[in-house]
Formats: sequence, C-alpha cells, structure tokens
Amino acid sequence: MSKVLIIGAGGVGRVVVHKCAQANEIFTEIILASRTQSKCDAIAAEIKSCTVRTARVDADNVAELTALLRQEKPQLVINVALPYQDLTIMDACLAAGVDYLDTANYEPLETAKFEYSWQWAYHERFREQGLMALLGSGFDPGVTNVYTALAAKKYLDVVEEIDIIDANAGSHGHPFATNFNPEINIREVTATCRHWENGQWVETAPLSTRRSFDFPAGIGPMNIYRLYHEEMESIVKHIPTIKKAQFWMTFSDNYLKHLEVLQNVGMTRIDEIEYQGRKIVPLQFLKAVLPDPGSLGPLTTGKTCIGVLARGLKNGQPKQVYIYNICDHEACYAETNSQAISFTTGVPAVVGGIMMLSGKWRGAGVFNMEEFDPELFLEVLDPMGLPTQVVEGQWPTL
Ligand code: NDP
Repeated sequence: MSKVLIIGAGGVGRVVVHKCAQANEIFTEIILASRTQSKCDAIAAEIKSCTVRTARVDADNVAELTALLRQEKPQLVINVALPYQDLTIMDACLAAGVDYLDTANYEPLETAKFEYSWQWAYHERFREQGLMALLGSGFDPGVTNVYTALAAKKYLDVVEEIDIIDANAGSHGHPFATNFNPEINIREVTATCRHWENGQWVETAPLSTRRSFDFPAGIGPMNIYRLYHEEMESIVKHIPTIKKAQFWMTFSDNYLKHLEVLQNVGMTRIDEIEYQGRKIVPLQFLKAVLPDPGSLGPLTTGKTCIGVLARGLKNGQPKQVYIYNICDHEACYAETNSQAISFTTGVPAVVGGIMMLSGKWRGAGVFNMEEFDPELFLEVLDPMGLPTQVVEGQWPTL
C-alpha cells in the first residue's frame, strides 16, 4: 500500500501517471500536483482504471510543498517538474520525511550548469533521517546508468570505455520543435561539451564533434554529435575503471540550422533583457512560441534508439557490448497519449519508484542508478514497455 505524489504535469508527468495507474497494486493512491492544476486535471481525466487526485503546488516554495506533503503523507515523491525545482523538492521531502526520486539533475536557473554536487550534498541529511533519494531515474540519465552497470556486472570484467548514444529517428512534421521542455533541451544542447578521458574532463565547443553511427532495427546510419550529459559524472565516479566516457545525440540538419540561427540572433540567451518596459529571458520567450512538446504525440512517427556501447576486458581479452532499447513513438502515443521521449523518461521513473517501494533497491541517503543491481531494474522495465537488447560485436571507435 503506497501513496505516491507526482510533481509536474508535463509530457513526462502524463506518462508517469498512466504507468502508476497501470501498476496500482503498488501505487495504491496517486496524486498529481503541479503549478497549473488544470493540466493535472486533464491528465487525471485520461485515467479510467483508478482515481487520480490533483493539487496545485508551486514547487519552488518549500513551505507550500512541505504543507502539501504533511497533509497527504505520501511514501514517495516522483519529481518530474523541471530541474530548477530539484533542491526545493528535496528540502520539502526532508522536512516532511518522504522518499524522493527525479529524472534530471539540479540546474540553477541563471547558469546552464549540470552537475550532481548540489544534490550529492544532501546525502548526509537523507541518510540521517533514514530516507532515500534516487537521482536521474529517466532514460538518459537513468536506464543508460543501469545499462552501464549491467555491462560491468554481466558482460565485462573491466569496463574501460563507454559511448552513450541517443537517437531520435522520429519525425513530428514541424519545421522546429524540441521533444521535451524546449528551455531545458536548448540549454543542454548549446552548453560547452565535456567528455571524460584519462581521469579528467575534456572541454570542446558545443556540437563541434560529429560522427556517424549505424543504428539497429532498420534505423540505419545517422549523424551523432557529442554533448555533455549528466550521467557521465556519476558513472565515472561509481565505476572508476572507465577511462573514457562520451555522450552522443542525433540531430537533423534542419534542427541544427534552426538552432544556429536562433543562437545567432540571441534567442537562446538565458540572461534577462529589457523589452517594452519589462524584463524577459529570450529563451523563455522562445519556449512560449515553440510547439508544446506535449502536443507532438499525435504527430510523431518513427523510433528512438538509446543505448550504451561499452568496451573493456572479459577474461583478459578485449570485448565490446552494445545494450539498447528501441521505442516506437506511435505505440507510446496509443498507450499513454505521449510520444517516445516522454515515455522513455516516465516509464523508468515509475520503475525506479517500484524498486524503492518494494525494497529491491533500498538505502538511506542520495543514490545514482548504477549503485544498485541492474538486473532487478531491467526485469521490471521490460514488461512495462521498454525491453532491453544486448548485442556483442565490434564497432568502430567513436
Ligand atoms: P514539461 O515542461 O512538459 O513539464 C514540466 C512540468 O513541471 C509542467 O507541468 C510545469 O508546470 C511543472 N512545473 C514547472 N515549474 C514548476 C513549479 N515551480 N512548481 C510546480 N510545477 C512546476 O517538461 P517534461 O515533462 O518534458 O520534462 C519533465 C522533466 O523530465 C524535466 O526535468 C526534464 O529535464 C526531465 N527529462 C529527463 C529525461 C531523461 O531521460 N532523464 C528526458 C527528458 C526529460 P506548468 O504546466 O505550469 O508549466
């Protein structure tokens, strides 16, 4: 019997609500809270198998959220609001004595800076209260951490290199749109690239390194671009044999052309400017005029392929293993009214919640996904709609 409080009624929140409702033998009571209650009500109305209650909350306001948590007394908070709210939600969880889970690491509003230091600093406070916080339980971060842990547990004795490769081979028909929150997406893509090599971070210009990767499941070769992505930080900490870690994402020429123009004209700036007597942040204004990612569901066709190519040693011999998932946008929409980007994030969030509530993954403090048994997680993830493929072979160095 577990009551869950989900924060954030966006694309990912919708999937989390649908999937918690499907697993309502575990999530016996579901509450969806967000800044705009009408969005919560619209999602709750889609659920026929059980009742989803809704609430309005400003998760930037610790006192307001703490009061809601004390009133509702959930066992778990699933935070699928924005990365800016991570710390205030963790504070409220500590104040009310509730376990915490999220899918993206904290990011200060005024700088596009992705690192775990702020959230890792909560470890002692969660540990002292016997509470658990599970960080980054989406797909990447999330399942990619679990795939790396699986490579280390089952396929390689020593993991030496990882390439995390995220392909969206889908199409939504808009000239330019982002698959998840445009502000977060554009901050991530335009940030300085960092990858891990021989014990240190190496910085390169955003989107300056391009390769081609031949994806499975009929997707074929696509251009991939190296980016910084937060899971590399925790993975190289917890699996210290890794000498090189890189993250790659596909972008169409069309997406990059639009992004370049938007950057050149200043529309991706995250500092305030004066406009007609008031202060606005250009990137937040851009978000307001771009298609809402939540509206892309009925339009998006094609597949995603997200996985980890791990290289290392097995019985003293070099070995490579590619662990990935294929997800179909239209099938996700048919099931949850959301496209595959929201689906691949929301489903692992729910599985992370199941791991915590069932005690299969348990600890007091703040944890990343690769610190727990990957096979227990994947056993639940597969039947929830995200099956894992494992191929051993040879791939060119990226
Ligand atoms: P959306 O922008 O669609 O939804 C965010 C929701 O959070 C909105 O409902 C918004 O409310 C709500 N919200 C924002 N600020 C507050 C606040 N102060 N108090 C309460 N609610 C608030 O985002 P997505 O659903 O696309 O993404 C959700 C999260 O998932 C993000 O953190 C994103 O980074 C993460 N993500 C993780 C991935 C992974 O693989 N790990 C991949 C993709 C996303 P309102 O409707 O009023 O604006």
